[in-house]
Amino acid sequence: MTITGKNHIGSSLTGDTDDTFYAINPSTGQQLDGKFYSANDSDIDNAVNLATQAFEIYKGIDKDKKADFLEKIADEIEALGDALIERAMLESGLPQARLTGERGRTVNQLKMFAALVREGSWVEAAIDTAIPDRSPVPKPDLRKMMVPLGTVVVFGASNFPLAFSTAGGDTASAFAGGNPVIVKAHNSHPGTSELIASAIINAANSSGMPEGIFSHVQDNGFHAGNQLVSHPGVKAVGFTGSFSGGKALYSRAQKRETPIPMFAEMGSVNPVLLLPGVVEANPVRMAEQYAGSITLGAGQFCTNPGLLIGLNSEALQHFADALGNAISDSKASVMLNKGIFENFRNRKAQMLEQYGIETISDTQDDNPDINAGSPVVAAVKASSFIANPTLHEEVFGPWSLLVRCNDKDEMTEVVKNIAGQLTITVMATESDLQEFSALIHLLREKAGRLILNGVPTGVEVCPSMQHGGPYPATTDIRFTSVGTAAIKRFVRPLSFQDWPETLLPPELHNDNPMDIWRLVNGRFTKDKIA
Ligand code: NAP
Repeated sequence: MTITGKNHIGSSLTGDTDDTFYAINPSTGQQLDGKFYSANDSDIDNAVNLATQAFEIYKGIDKDKKADFLEKIADEIEALGDALIERAMLESGLPQARLTGERGRTVNQLKMFAALVREGSWVEAAIDTAIPDRSPVPKPDLRKMMVPLGTVVVFGASNFPLAFSTAGGDTASAFAGGNPVIVKAHNSHPGTSELIASAIINAANSSGMPEGIFSHVQDNGFHAGNQLVSHPGVKAVGFTGSFSGGKALYSRAQKRETPIPMFAEMGSVNPVLLLPGVVEANPVRMAEQYAGSITLGAGQFCTNPGLLIGLNSEALQHFADALGNAISDSKASVMLNKGIFENFRNRKAQMLEQYGIETISDTQDDNPDINAGSPVVAAVKASSFIANPTLHEEVFGPWSLLVRCNDKDEMTEVVKNIAGQLTITVMATESDLQEFSALIHLLREKAGRLILNGVPTGVEVCPSMQHGGPYPATTDIRFTSVGTAAIKRFVRPLSFQDWPETLLPPELHNDNPMDIWRLVNGRFTKDKIA
């Protein structure tokens, strides 16, 4: 399979500019095959204009056709075969098994959204029929459902080259909602992104989708992304990455003449409360479980457990010692790119210099030649943690900080001081849960997902998943970027008052031709309206 390096604008290969760049293999530092072209302003205009035209057709397209399109993307991705995995391995340094699993997740996400679209009830149709003789004023006929927003820009994520990039959850949910998508590829894996883009374009062509339903732009810098977010034709943005990048793009989206929703998932330290009963019961087993979670995928998960909070005791010391031993046994792992490796190295050094920090385990085994970062765990007293906001921030990579608290009140203060999170985990026995019930109740205000006796890494893709949390974890606490509910980011409610049926979408017709669940006069039903 040849990498063309050109930007895919609509279904044609264009965007062949003078500004070029190459992919770099993080585990060798070597330049990879394929020259990539940064999109220029006219490419961006072209992509947005085509998407705007495509929206006029796609927003009203039959739900089965839309579902077929999503399923065809999944098939086309599978048809890329080993070439996709091989390229992704070269560009990301991630192992084959991880990327094969991630491809499975990507394909399943697309199929899950196809099933959602086919079933149809996600539009949340609500109908209140008229009562013309109501006194003192007649009640109008009101019918409401979710409709798409328009062109969505998706920023590919470095740490999920497949499941959160070109045809990842953001793209799948935006398409499912009825929106055209323009992907700004992550420049860490441009070849992987191009292969997936070609799969989407093949699927769009073979399922008769309008020109411009999808465009793919590359850039070796921030210009194309900034232009896309500022473009008046763009209606929403999905992003996964750093706090600084997400915040900058969010501000840009809000400062436009017409502000737009920008759903940024910017990371989290995913605190874990180690309650005394469970620490006493099996400190060594829990340490091994957490060492695995901290080092999984070189710690490059947004749900990496970066903060462990426990009560001082002999058992907590056993836990810390066992965690240190397990971490010392783990090797440095190749990180996603040079920038992420250097960021990790600088950030862990900065953390280890902070007042009151005690290193539990640091193999000092970083290898800059292959961008391999070695894991570190450190500890600090709760009072020093509370006083120092630097210690509250994410270190993206295999890092975790144990906060030692003197008592329940101090642990409560630590929790009160942490910012919004994607996840918080509670490791507890039955009696811990009772004894710490007030503190546990407090956690609900702090995170999108509360885990009991598990690890935060591993995000199930299903309707009940919430992957999003209070700021700064994400820019909009109300939404998830994983699971079927992710579609809600890219749709909005539209209410029709007193319109004739011929001018209403079929979902709102009396005879329910889509056979979907609807809320009719306050009752969920599939029945026709008499
Ligand atoms: P990133 O730097 O935020 O980049 C994500 C995307 O946004 C890229 O396409 C990037 O463009 C673009 N971008 C970044 N800053 C921008 C700005 N100011 N204006 C316009 N566009 C901007 O994230 P990353 O490259 O994935 O990793 C960098 C750091 O982000 C990591 O070291 C880590 O700290 C954090 N991170 C966190 C998570 C998480 O889930 N918590 C995930 C990934 C990364 P380019 O492609 O041109 O760089």
